[in-house]
Amino acid sequence: MRSPDIRTTFLDFFRERGHRAVPSSPLVPSDPTLLLANAGMNQFKPYFLGETTPDHPRAMSVQKCVRTSDIENVGRTARHTTFFEMLGNFSFGDYFKQEAISWSWELLTEHFNLDPSRLWVTVYLDDDETVRLWRRIGVPSDRIQRLGMKDNYWSMGIPGPCGPSSELHYDRGPQYGPEGGPAVDGERYHELWNLVFMQNLRGDGPGKEGYPILGELPAKNIDTGLGLDRLAAILQDADGVCDTDLVGPALRLVRELAAHDEPVSSRIVAEHSRSIAFLIADGVLPSPDGRGHVLRRLMRRAILHARRLGIDDPVLAPLTTTVVDGLGGTWPELTTHADLIRHVVTSEEEGFEQTLRHGTRFLETAVSRSTGTISGATAFKLQDSYGFPIDLTLDAARSAGLTVDEDAFAELVEERRRQALEAGRSTKKDAIERHDTYRRLRAEHGPTEFVGHDTTETET
Ligand code: ATP
Ligand code: MG
Ligand code: MG
Ligand code: MG
Repeated sequence: MRSPDIRTTFLDFFRERGHRAVPSSPLVPSDPTLLLANAGMNQFKPYFLGETTPDHPRAMSVQKCVRTSDIENVGRTARHTTFFEMLGNFSFGDYFKQEAISWSWELLTEHFNLDPSRLWVTVYLDDDETVRLWRRIGVPSDRIQRLGMKDNYWSMGIPGPCGPSSELHYDRGPQYGPEGGPAVDGERYHELWNLVFMQNLRGDGPGKEGYPILGELPAKNIDTGLGLDRLAAILQDADGVCDTDLVGPALRLVRELAAHDEPVSSRIVAEHSRSIAFLIADGVLPSPDGRGHVLRRLMRRAILHARRLGIDDPVLAPLTTTVVDGLGGTWPELTTHADLIRHVVTSEEEGFEQTLRHGTRFLETAVSRSTGTISGATAFKLQDSYGFPIDLTLDAARSAGLTVDEDAFAELVEERRRQALEAGRSTKKDAIERHDTYRRLRAEHGPTEFVGHDTTETET
């Protein structure tokens, strides 16, 4: 089944069950505490918090998501991309566990025709009620596993609504690893669909699991996320998420352009091209921090991996054009901003080429002056000031018969990371404080009304 049919099948199923379609929010969220949209529920957060009442208690969406936290997994696992589409059905204080569970099973086994004996489910540790519900629809006990906070308790990664979850996983078969279900680490069982029983509220704290659970939400809600890319991989009998009709066309072009075959790099270049196109279409431009930095990092990684494949000509323009051609029918913003995308990737790639050239010159001088070892400080300066990655320094050193003081380099990187973390923490804290102030004002004065572009009065 092609991805357009997967989206339609999903939406038709939930439309027949009283859900109203809500368009994807842009990747740049209106929530100031969130860097980029990372789940279908993001735009519904005020409903879950009880701050606003929706017109209709059931919604469904196909949400564009970006998760940079998965960047290192791209190309290496068969299930992670930095950009993906999340199919979701939502209940705002309406139906709860029973419907969410039985509908997910019915859709996967009767409409997408997945073999029920390949489906495993996980539930949150002590959630006996959910185990009973799965048993009642016929899932055998030995394919129901209980997992803890990390896997089966969902939260946004920032303060907000959260709750225990139950997930459906697909057994890809013995060629991908030992039997044992999703509780076993590895890639045999792909997590496919997360059903979150959104009922609690999380506060601020150090790291995802450190956020204290503050209490109950005003109502019991349902938030689900089914990864379109992962479902497409199964239904298209593809090796992984980069081999579907979603990323496949870009991957084929990378292979055509490449001088040699290096599967991980090829997948990275193809996959990042899609994220790059979608981010620019939603108004993100490359910059040294924030969202722009995410975009720049994706572009530089894609370019470096392309060079590693022996592609010396500009690569981002042709690849993002392929993405626009393939997905522009479903996501018209790609087509609307096709020129902007081409312009931005072309100038960024030219700029990065220049960076690499300057870095190479600096490195050559360093190499000619070194006897035996290139200092950690030099390697760090190359990376930090020239944007010249350590991999390239190591390569050049090796060819010149030199070594790099990697320990000293690692210390400097760690030092910089600590500084960035401190800076990031205060930025995040500022954003959360601004958000809290906004909420308080809103509670006191009600929502602000849009009074038109002519009004220049500043709101506080
Ligand atoms: P995983 O454990 O495999 O990293 P997750 O638990 O982080 O996935 P959720 O936050 O539960 O994912 O998101 C809901 C669904 O979205 C997942 O079940 C999966 O189908 C899809 N999904 C999540 N992250 C990615 C990704 N990086 N690439 C593609 N699909 C994803
Ligand atoms: Mg994950
Ligand atoms: Mg998971
Ligand atoms: Mg999950």
